[in-house]
Amino acid sequence: MNAETIKQTVSKRKEQIFATFGHLHANPEVSWKEVETTAYLAERARALGLQVTTFDDCTGLVATWGEGKPVIGLRTDIDALWQEVDGTWRANHSCGHDAHMTLVLEAIETLKEAGFQPAGTLKILFQPAEEKGDGALKLIEKGMVDDIDYLFGVHLRPIQEMKAGNAGPAIYNGAALFLEGEISGVAAHGARPHLGINVIEVAAAIVNGLGSIHTNPVVPATAKMTMLKAGGDNYNIIPDRATFALDLRAQTNQVMDELLEKIKRMVAGVEAIFDTKITLRAGSRMVAAEVNEEAKALMEQAILDILGEEGLRPAPVSPGAEDFHFYTVERPQIKATMLALGCDLGPGLHHPQMSFTRESLLDGVGILAQVVVRAFEKAAK
Ligand SMILES: [Zn+2]
Ligand SMILES: [Zn+2]
Repeated sequence: MNAETIKQTVSKRKEQIFATFGHLHANPEVSWKEVETTAYLAERARALGLQVTTFDDCTGLVATWGEGKPVIGLRTDIDALWQEVDGTWRANHSCGHDAHMTLVLEAIETLKEAGFQPAGTLKILFQPAEEKGDGALKLIEKGMVDDIDYLFGVHLRPIQEMKAGNAGPAIYNGAALFLEGEISGVAAHGARPHLGINVIEVAAAIVNGLGSIHTNPVVPATAKMTMLKAGGDNYNIIPDRATFALDLRAQTNQVMDELLEKIKRMVAGVEAIFDTKITLRAGSRMVAAEVNEEAKALMEQAILDILGEEGLRPAPVSPGAEDFHFYTVERPQIKATMLALGCDLGPGLHHPQMSFTRESLLDGVGILAQVVVRAFEKAAK
């Protein structure tokens, strides 16, 4: 199958592609509640003759086309955000997951229509709850990705990063981690501070400690206190209990581990200095991208095939987080990358009025269909 056939089929399907997007865009559902979305996707996949697996305990589905090895995977997230749009709180597809579903579904439609037959299995992950950060982990836990050789995802890029007509072969998302802490001090009268342990002074020492933690400066990383609650209505009491939260970011998983280690050591030091008790609990964590070079090269080739030399851009580095990367961190044998699709998206991802150029959907459908063709060719060698 050559790229010309894919491109022609995509342009023939233009109106259907816009219609698929129109339906998904008009019917947003939030994380873990994508019930109608799951039903719609299952129906479309069955109509294409795919084998569909749905789950009793959660939304989302996995569809397969063909059988045996190799297994090439396509992944889309399916959830929307809950936010205020024009004065009304509602589910809203402001992260473009409606576009991602359209791209993956229509890439399959395009391949079918173009007469493609997978020499192995094409597996499509319609993953719930990306915005909650635990949707990918759920599919991993269910054993849905164990047999996947190559996995391709996609995310629309904001206009500041990439313009319409351009695409990149990977997205280098960073890692994020929240730490929740509690400090237990000793209460005392404001006139006799020497008899107490002031938790606000302990928290201040932690904030200062963060300032002297250093990781390799060529890898962006930050750690800061983003919440602190201590003291009450009586200003003459030395407070004995504080809760706080730290927000940690790092561009690689290795630096995140290092940052976390150094923070734990610093907090233990503060604990000793003040002779107090500080507990630290890890909250939700997002891992940084682990991009496979082979998968990235296949995506690069697919972009060249569909958009030409002028459409290929370097893979963007993004401070944002994405739960796609759990697939490769938890199952390192999977060779994965994400397509970064330029589409003149503004004002920004998660903005209630987010919009983008519809025509870019055609680029994305073509690239995803083409990367599937390329991956099967590569695996056959
Ligand atoms: Zn998002
Ligand atoms: Zn997203």
